[in-house]
Parts: sequence; C-alpha cells; structure tokens
Amino acid sequence: MSQPLTIVMYHYVRPLRTSRYPALKALELTDFEGQLDYLQRHYRVVRMEDVIASVKGEASLPENAALLTFDDGYRDHYEHVFPSLVERGLQGSFFPPACAVRERRVLDVNKIHFVLASIDETSLLIDTVFRFLDTHREQYGLDDNDAYYQRYCHESRYDDPDVAFIKRLLQKGLPETLRAELVDELFHRFVTEDERAFADELYMSVNELRELHESGMYLGSHGDRHEWLNTLSGEAQQREIDASLSFLAELGVQTTDWVMCYPYGGYNPLLLELLRLRGCTLGLTVNVDIADLSEDDPLLLPRLDTNDLPMSCVSYDMADRAKCDHL
Ligand SMILES: [Zn+2]
Repeated sequence: MSQPLTIVMYHYVRPLRTSRYPALKALELTDFEGQLDYLQRHYRVVRMEDVIASVKGEASLPENAALLTFDDGYRDHYEHVFPSLVERGLQGSFFPPACAVRERRVLDVNKIHFVLASIDETSLLIDTVFRFLDTHREQYGLDDNDAYYQRYCHESRYDDPDVAFIKRLLQKGLPETLRAELVDELFHRFVTEDERAFADELYMSVNELRELHESGMYLGSHGDRHEWLNTLSGEAQQREIDASLSFLAELGVQTTDWVMCYPYGGYNPLLLELLRLRGCTLGLTVNVDIADLSEDDPLLLPRLDTNDLPMSCVSYDMADRAKCDHL
C-alpha cells in the first residue's frame, strides 16, 4: 500500500518587500502564512519523528501527510517561521550547515544570492565576471568567456538564462580556488565588506538553534561546509558528515536515527553507504516529487519546492489545482 508524503522545501522566508534585499529570491512572509493555511486545510502536517517511525515500520502516516523542511539555518527561520509554527502547533525540520553557524562565515551559495539581489542589471555582473576571467585566463588555463557562456547559459527551473549562468559558473564552473576568490570579490564589491556582521544577520546562532530544538522543532544535518557531497572523496565526505554530527550533538540532538538533507541535492553511492554506516535513517533530496515511503529509498526522498504549492486557500483556483494535479 502506498504511503505518500508531501515534503515541502523552504529556504528564505521573510517580509521581502520591506526588507533590505527585496530582489532576493525569497518567499514573502504573507505567502508563507497563506501556504500554511492551505496546508493545514488540505494536509495533515506530521512530525519528523512520525516519518522516521513510519520508515522503520513502527507506525503509519495519516492520509495526506505533509512535512515542512527548512534548509540552510537562516535567521529568517528563527524570526519568522518558528513563531508561526509554534502558534499553529506545527513542527518544522531545520537543516543548518555547521560551519555557517559555528564560524559565522557566509556560504558561497548565499554570497551569490545576495550579489544577484544587490545589482539591477545582470549584464553588469556578467561583464565584471568576464573581466575577472580575462585577468586570470592564462594563469588558470581558462576557456574563452564565450565558451563558458555557451556551456552554462540556459534556463533552469527557477532562474532566467543569465542568472542561471552566473549561478552555475560561480557554484561549479571554475577551478575551486579561483571560484572562491571571484565570489569573495563580488560579495565585497556589491554587498558588504563585513562578512562577519552579515553572517550574524543571516544565520541562526547556536543558542537559537537550541531553542528551536527544545521547543520541539526537528534539527538534522546539512553537512558542514555546504559542499556538493557527490564531488568529494570518501574521506572528505566522512569529514563533512562527522563534523555535522558533532555539531548536532552539541545542539543536544540525538545522532541515532538522524536525517540528512543533501546540500544542493548532491549524493552518490559512496555517500549513501557512509550514511547507512553512521545510522542515518532518512535523506532529503531536491528531486521534485511527492515521496512514497512504501517505495522510495528512505535515503532518497524527493521534495516539492514551496513554489509548487498554492500560497493561500483563496488562490487555490483552477490554475493551482491543475499545477497540483500535474505533480
Ligand atoms: Zn542548502
């Protein structure tokens, strides 16, 4: 018998229009509230512990079960999501990358988001990137700018071609040290020189995470440095996983039957083997689908993005219905 579970994935959730970065790809707080209204009307929001018990055959989920997941440890989640969930009596599952919280360093992925949110013209950013590549081409044996543009400039699920180009190039497309240097330079030029203060505003603190946990929210692993784990050696994968587990232990979270949320959705067979050895029970991917606990590998559960679901009960019109039926 099938056991469907709609796992919803959230990232930034904030009062976007009145915030300092209204162009950030974030979920407007009122839309989040509207989506919770919708979910509470049409689904039964379950706790992560229920899902773990169900995977272990100790319980079964109610019909129309939904699970709420929040990636990346943003302070947004503490300030806006947490109070709302508490008020509604719902549990959320939160996945903070250890190093961002512990070391107060802004992850490259976040630097890229805020660079994009800080400029009006993507073409200006592309010109800046190309000039940077020109000055490093010889030293690093880089391809022509046109070759990179051809390779990475195509639409993605969430971004127009030029934005997708910037993200792909800056996340994966260049040699690691050069990539990091370029991201830093752009962040300092377009966003801020004070990375530490920015990190303090962007990520939850250890104490805030403890408070979430003590209030019944669920905390799981999102790795240490928010790496593409499928690109790492077995040893580096171990370091990532073990660092994130010791971080969770520090927060008071039990590390038996724990949950992994893959940064960028990246995993490979080597990583899955390691996770099994370390007692990981569930893994959350970014594959887009409704999970079925009776069929899916529990380490490879798909999720829906918040944008795949209606943002209010009222807006649940034919278009939204068609979208939901399609999924
Ligand atoms: Zn992430």
